[in-house]
Amino acid sequence: MTDLKSMLPEEIQEYLAGIGEKPFRAKQIFRWISAGETDIDNMTDLSVSLREKLKSECTVTRAKIVSKLVSKIDGTVKYLFELADGEKIETVFMRYKYGNTVCISTQAGCRMGCTFCASHINGFRRHLTPAEMLEQVMAAMRDTGEKVKGIVLMGIGEPLDNYDNVLQFLRLVHHPEGLNISHRHISLSTCGLVDKIDMLAKEKLQITLSVSLHAPNDDIRRQTMPIAKRFSYETLIDACKRYIEVTNRRISFEYALISGVNDSDKDAHQLGKVLSGMLCHVNLIPVNEVKERGYKKSTREQVARFTEILNSYKINTTVRRKLGGDINASCGQLRAEHREE
Ligand code: SAH
Repeated sequence: MTDLKSMLPEEIQEYLAGIGEKPFRAKQIFRWISAGETDIDNMTDLSVSLREKLKSECTVTRAKIVSKLVSKIDGTVKYLFELADGEKIETVFMRYKYGNTVCISTQAGCRMGCTFCASHINGFRRHLTPAEMLEQVMAAMRDTGEKVKGIVLMGIGEPLDNYDNVLQFLRLVHHPEGLNISHRHISLSTCGLVDKIDMLAKEKLQITLSVSLHAPNDDIRRQTMPIAKRFSYETLIDACKRYIEVTNRRISFEYALISGVNDSDKDAHQLGKVLSGMLCHVNLIPVNEVKERGYKKSTREQVARFTEILNSYKINTTVRRKLGGDINASCGQLRAEHREE
């Protein structure tokens, strides 16, 4: 079945041409989908015969809410959605002062295997389609009745491991007749697939690239992130420098502080030296203690020291504010629990 929600107007047009339909219908269909319609029967400005034809060959993805948790602290909403084939994925709706942001998943499960992360506890299932990524944003809008200003690709999955679908999603979501979300309000987070970072640089998108670094050197990175065995630390940092040069965009480095693993003063100095002079920002995250993982988060004092040391290298550093602390809003946890039951 063709999923119309994964297609740009010009692609719908091409498809329609193939079944002998007029090109202007494509815009109508794209508008219905962008307005949240998932039932072809309700697209009332299309002829009944076209609707019948579409129904026999096409779908418009719709996600079903399996569970929904709302934080009493800050209004963060965490969804577990079910897709057409029964796969379950997580999406988080967050309220920030500057607007609502949705954190979406890009894969069902993950094959990167970072040891601190809950996303791969039940393995890798499959890539998500562009439509399924878009639908996470739209379903959250439908349910909350609110607008969305920003998107972060920081849910379950490795976006650059699903490169083509993610790129198509980015095109769809910022289409002026679609959700029209500015790329400047979109962040894509990667564990560091160097070849794909180079590919992405060539697209020259205005998105923010976040790189999950989590270590000041190769030895420490290899302890927690299997991807570090495929791409060395130096290769990754070089790719980040190329990315900055080609796109002129600042990179955001994610660094989960794990007590006794990567949070010493020495680690902070080493990281400071590596990143010094780069157009970047460091986002420190006291590691979320996933029960299956056994890591402890760094103390508040150590987080402050780490920040101070990075600042001494003139590196812009922030500590991530935790949203949805009462609802387990960190990636993978809800899905993992659901599968356990
Ligand atoms: N695969 C992508 C995006 C998904 S994870 C990536 O690796 O970047 C989003 C962010 O959460 C990543 O920086 C990831 O390393 C981090 N993360 C995963 N588990 C975490 C945990 N238990 N505590 C803190 N951060 C975690």
